Amino acid sequence: MKQLEELKGLGPKGLRLLNQLGIHTVNDLIHYFPFRYDILKRSDLNCAAKDDKVIVDGVVESVPRVFHINHKMDKMDFKINAQNHLLNIAIFNRGFLKSQLPIGKEVTVIGKYDPIHSHIVASELRIGLLEKETIEPVYHTIYGISSKQLSHYISLALKEKVDTEDYIPTIYQEKYHFPSKEISIRIVHQPTNEGALKKAEERIKYEELFLFMLKMNYLKNNKQNKIGLKRNVDYQKVQAFIGTLPYALTEDQEKSVQAIYQDLMSPTRMNRLLQGDVGSGKTVVALIASYINYLSGYQTALMAPTEILAEQHYQNALSLCKDTGMQIGLLTGKMKAKEKKEIYSAIKNGDIDLIIGTHALFTDTVEYANLGFVITDEQHRFGVNQRSSLKNKGITPDILYMSATPIPRTYALTLYGDMDISSIKTVPRGRKPVITTVASNREMKQVLEAMYEQIKQGHQIYVIAPLIEESDKSDFENVNELSEKMNKAFGKICQIGTLHGKMKSAEKEIVMNQFANNEIQILISTTVVEVGVDVPNATMMVIFDSYRFGLSALHQLRGRVGRNDLQSYCILVSERETERLHILTKTNDGFKVSEEDFLLRGSGDLFGAKQSGDMVFQMANLKNDFSILLNARQDSEDFLEQLDCKDSLSNKIINLIEKSMDLD
Ligand code: ADP
Ligand code: MG
Repeated sequence: MKQLEELKGLGPKGLRLLNQLGIHTVNDLIHYFPFRYDILKRSDLNCAAKDDKVIVDGVVESVPRVFHINHKMDKMDFKINAQNHLLNIAIFNRGFLKSQLPIGKEVTVIGKYDPIHSHIVASELRIGLLEKETIEPVYHTIYGISSKQLSHYISLALKEKVDTEDYIPTIYQEKYHFPSKEISIRIVHQPTNEGALKKAEERIKYEELFLFMLKMNYLKNNKQNKIGLKRNVDYQKVQAFIGTLPYALTEDQEKSVQAIYQDLMSPTRMNRLLQGDVGSGKTVVALIASYINYLSGYQTALMAPTEILAEQHYQNALSLCKDTGMQIGLLTGKMKAKEKKEIYSAIKNGDIDLIIGTHALFTDTVEYANLGFVITDEQHRFGVNQRSSLKNKGITPDILYMSATPIPRTYALTLYGDMDISSIKTVPRGRKPVITTVASNREMKQVLEAMYEQIKQGHQIYVIAPLIEESDKSDFENVNELSEKMNKAFGKICQIGTLHGKMKSAEKEIVMNQFANNEIQILISTTVVEVGVDVPNATMMVIFDSYRFGLSALHQLRGRVGRNDLQSYCILVSERETERLHILTKTNDGFKVSEEDFLLRGSGDLFGAKQSGDMVFQMANLKNDFSILLNARQDSEDFLEQLDCKDSLSNKIINLIEKSMDLD
């Protein structure tokens, strides 16, 4: 397939804008789907009421007159004859079209209708009559590129042969009478009739959901490895350990511990999802679970998504488990070769009972003495490859997935199927809900004042900027720009640090530690960077361009504050979608937030979704496309049942799934 640069008619500016939309290849471009369609059908003027939006076509009846209102604005007037009505058309800033509109010219006009004065204030004017029905794709864009331009760039790509993998097995392709992927992609970008469009959309959604459900089913236990380890631990010992903790467990924490205990005691393999809001206290549940496993003589591996979080879990474990006798180790990718070697042999010899780390825990070099239990924090990172690296060694541990993005129960049941779910809904006592407000850029003065108030009290602040790149200025507050601003406002009274994705992890860690030690009071960061450490003295989070995030992602971010008994604040700075953002001002309950997110987007931040709140699906929507999802679920189960890895499509699909699950 061609490179984007090779498309004739796409210049450097267009290329840059496409890159900003996350489009880097021709393949990205043709998979950048419209989010809705405008269907242009000729309106019947006899049925149209005042202020209806109408679409009419007809011929020009009078020579257009152009009035210049000021140097930036003009207004053009002319008459057309449409459906035997003589209509007065007014349109702004199209004066340049005057020469193309001689009397008798056929045109199409879209605009607001006033039947009494036979008048249309047009928002669009096109040369030529309307075809029977025109369906126009509408794309999400950014400043500097219109949906039409995007559509044009896509049409350039579609002039070439579309070279894309088809992942729907033939039987299902035939079962639903789906067009091919290539045809479907062409249709969704350049639809000619609604019926074909619907089918093409359905096909693309189905493929997304089919692969998604395959992934889910693949994650689940299959029949032969349902037999798990047998353990025998006295619950009193568990309670004794709980008694040594610096706080009492919340009711839901206690329930989760009991459920996990039951799972671990039963001879069936454990496959449980522990979901609970940020800050709800999942870590301690994980540590108690590790302790139960330790008492039964097996090793536990706890995998965190980032090195910083792994380190944090490690420190937590050391302090909470210091009297248990459980030996705890840390293994991350950035450790020195010598340190790693020592850890490897300690794991192999069984000298370590609980090993905490990143995905480095499941590379081929790691051999476990007797791994019985795997816990993953943010489950989607536990890839199939990692699983199979264990399976090859004949180990089938119990598995506990932890997730901070709860999803509504109905969807959970469908998506996770036979996975058991524990939910922590109550937050630890003494927590005050984070007070959340929405502010516009014009209210920056108040935002700065609120920040000043926190600094004065000796507290710390996170400032989140969504992008690192110097990009279109009108839309983004980038880290550097923000840093300048903050330095101007607060440089004299406190220390300001920045974190961004381009920094080396050692550099990041220095800054994070400075923030943790209160050597930095304001930390400006992109979400590319894990702001995962627990800094209880941080009481405010200011998130710029917050409309760019999904509600769940914002909720997770704000979970970084409110981590002690101080009142904490979150300010969502945004020029757009403030109605949506206001949901967060009303609730601190992650379950409710994720429910709203689902209702709005049909997709929370599920498996494989990025922290920024990117959607998992390009087209499918779990809520609206639930019936397709159900089909896809059934089909994916059948498919796995009859999986034949000698067949090349099956192979391709499994490869794809494995690749997509192994994110890091
Ligand atoms: P998360 O669910 O986001 O992983 P953590 O496990 O990091 O949450 O817990 C957040 C904070 O709450 C930690 O500082 C932890 O020590 C504290 N915590 C956890 N459980 C309780 C509890 N039952 N009572 C009081 N504080 C708790
Ligand atoms: Mg956590």
